[in-house]
Amino acid sequence: RFHSSSLLPKHSGSFAGRVPAGLGRKRLRIVVTGGAGFVGSHLVDKLIARGDEVIVIDNFFTGRKENLVHLFGNPRFELIRHDVVEPILLEVDQIYHLACPASPVHYKFLLTSTSEVYGDPLEHPQKETYWGNVNPIGERSCYDEGKRTAETLTMDYHRGADVEVRIARIFNTYGPRMCLDDGRVVSNFVAQAIRKQPMTVYGNGKQTRSFQYVSDLVEGLVALMESEHVGPFNLGNPGEFTMLELAEVVKETIDPSATIEFRPNTADDPHKRKPDISKAKELLNWEPKIPLREGLPLMVSDFRNRILNGDEGKGL
Ligand code: UDP
Repeated sequence: RFHSSSLLPKHSGSFAGRVPAGLGRKRLRIVVTGGAGFVGSHLVDKLIARGDEVIVIDNFFTGRKENLVHLFGNPRFELIRHDVVEPILLEVDQIYHLACPASPVHYKFLLTSTSEVYGDPLEHPQKETYWGNVNPIGERSCYDEGKRTAETLTMDYHRGADVEVRIARIFNTYGPRMCLDDGRVVSNFVAQAIRKQPMTVYGNGKQTRSFQYVSDLVEGLVALMESEHVGPFNLGNPGEFTMLELAEVVKETIDPSATIEFRPNTADDPHKRKPDISKAKELLNWEPKIPLREGLPLMVSDFRNRILNGDEGKGL
């Protein structure tokens, strides 16, 4: 929550120290909540690389300092250990909200929502106009309904308080820096194949997901923030795979002798998921560039290093 008492006039004198970035564009000061996490840290890299100042707020529940350690000492980078449910006084131009719910007032605010708002979808592929099929009392509903409520609040602030907002609905994303053991399918299969353990396929493995490489997502988030559109926008790769097909690709990529093992599936697991990205293509001029077979090898060396070093994904 960005407490209202933290608001300062947007063009107050304290901005005087700013120097224009190289390309003649004003250098922005940007907060990334959850910036020490998987997607957040890649986004931070991109914003720093283009010349902006970045303040990361992270409570390190799941984020890791290792994801940002290469930026320590950079004068345009700051890291604050802080839980975003507590107020914080900051003066910034943009907020990318990748951590928990927030209630900002005067900034441009981008909410990272999720394809889970579509629940177990009855429409396929899913367009942004689809209202979803979520079990409100199911095991995963705290996440799904939490993000749906975050979308509601974001739109209420937009309509009621004129906050400039953006909503991204992120589909399954993978890449280097993913938590090793938080149970997502790509990280599980890759870690299992590297450790020479069987890949655990839940259910019959015929359920589908569409996997997006993290750099494509980061491009999409920035394109959305910079655009004139509120959204929501689906940000995902339409390349759809069953879990069995995914296991096959991991096997080809990492270890041809890798095996699979079936396990019971979790409750309310969506049977299929694939983004319709026509809206983002048309209005943001964005589409993913990296197919699964190209993206997967890019995360393998990171996973190998971390597994060899015994880093199980926790903070420093
Ligand atoms: N899954 C699997 N094996 C695993 C972990 C997950 O087969 O070791 C399946 C899971 O049942 C689901 C799919 O992979 O159908 C995607 O799961 P994940 O948690 O990665 O993403 P989400 O369900 O949030 O889309």
